[in-house]
Amino acid sequence: MVRPSGGLAGMSAARDDDHLREECGVFGVWGAADAAALTALGLHALQHRGQEATGIVSFDGERFHSHKALGLVGDAFSDARVMARLPGAAAIGHNRYATTGDTVLRNVQPLYADFEFGGLAVGHNGNLTNAHALRRALVRRGCLFQSTTDSEVFVHLIAISLYGTVVDRLIDALKQVQGAYSLVALTSEALIGVRDPFGVRPLILGRLAGRDGAWVLASETCALDIVGAAFVRDVEPGEIVVIDDAGVRSIKPWAKQPSRFCIFEHIYFARPDSIVEGTAVYEVRKRIGAELARESHTAADIVVPVPDSGVPAAMGYAAEAGVPFELGIIRNHYVGRTFIEPTDQIRHLGVKLKHSANRALLAGKRVILVDDSIVRGTTSRKIVEMVRAAGATEVHMRVSSPPTTHSCFYGIDTPERDQLLAARNDVDAMARIIGVDSLAFISIDGLYRAVAGAARDARRPQFCDACFTGDYPIPLTDQSDQSNDRQLSLLAETR
Ligand code: SF4
Repeated sequence: MVRPSGGLAGMSAARDDDHLREECGVFGVWGAADAAALTALGLHALQHRGQEATGIVSFDGERFHSHKALGLVGDAFSDARVMARLPGAAAIGHNRYATTGDTVLRNVQPLYADFEFGGLAVGHNGNLTNAHALRRALVRRGCLFQSTTDSEVFVHLIAISLYGTVVDRLIDALKQVQGAYSLVALTSEALIGVRDPFGVRPLILGRLAGRDGAWVLASETCALDIVGAAFVRDVEPGEIVVIDDAGVRSIKPWAKQPSRFCIFEHIYFARPDSIVEGTAVYEVRKRIGAELARESHTAADIVVPVPDSGVPAAMGYAAEAGVPFELGIIRNHYVGRTFIEPTDQIRHLGVKLKHSANRALLAGKRVILVDDSIVRGTTSRKIVEMVRAAGATEVHMRVSSPPTTHSCFYGIDTPERDQLLAARNDVDAMARIIGVDSLAFISIDGLYRAVAGAARDARRPQFCDACFTGDYPIPLTDQSDQSNDRQLSLLAETR
């Protein structure tokens, strides 16, 4: 498991775990009278994609309205007076997870700006890999940046474009950026959705039943379910969908190229009840667990998931191995994000605030622990200690992702490479550090077989898997640009 790379002052107990973090979720509605309320519900279903801040921009036919707040969706949009200030039949919303620095309101999306053609609001899931370079060029041209998010680059590129229509200006801007992006944008005339040419991050199109066919855009299908919308289709990689009262118009400004969807969405990021790229996430995770058992099973008495994310893989593992699945670790769901300002004395207890060992079950047992990833290894080590202290005679860890050896630059919060346990150690050394009797990860081909039914095509990989292979499909322009100055490096703060 992994820990976020950025250190918020006073990191909460809930955040102090050891997982990779999805960085954003987006949602949009066109043509429903209570668009902002629907958007709040959609963002609530997408809360797992970002918990630091949230925002909604609505349009009532004449004016745009905005509300943004730090914290969770339920806290930001539960007040009827707030919702009353977001009228209109069109809205977009955004959940944010920050990687570095303080989360401040000016960085909370959707971003909004007034242009000569009218207002435009934008919400972005992903990460631009040439944002530093673009920002430097834009600052030299006199652009004044209001935030430190890379997403603001979109706004300035649209502002200076010489094209006439907002869609042409957007295409002009998109052709200058590199990176991963799923966007929702709102103008007075349309709701717009965009996926980058590789389709790294998800974006789907849905339709609300019984509401004059109102349209919805969302990061995942779980957000359609909560508002009662039917899944229509994935927005395709490299596609722009323009939604207005006449329906949906599809624009494909790039030559078609093979998709490189983020394979980690299947392993961990997406909610288990979502359908991702046509596949049920829950079933995929069970298949990954079964493949893991075929590859690396060892004799044991029980299979125990590290909750919650390890549960489906552990179920698949246990069924394939013919070993009982047991909840040997219980997760405390009531650790609030603002539980404490941890003192040094109790900070080390962090993992026990969130997980506790089921002693009656673990004592005297040979245990296979199943988790979805190991990033720094700090939480894994504490959990193994906890399971041993509860009386387990052997602890074997099986991981439903390959070793995380590289950082992600496409919208997932990962530590610097030198802090990734697998970047510095082989599997045997990792096993010693974590304190397990044996450790095994699913192979990259086993992962592909479980997710897509075929081994990885080394010449044309079917997914982005760069955090396991170092094979980055999109250029990392800013990483190789050593001339960025300190001011511009603030762009490392992502949405
Ligand atoms: S590097 Fe890893 S986490 Fe990032 S987009 Fe690629 S597969 Fe997903």
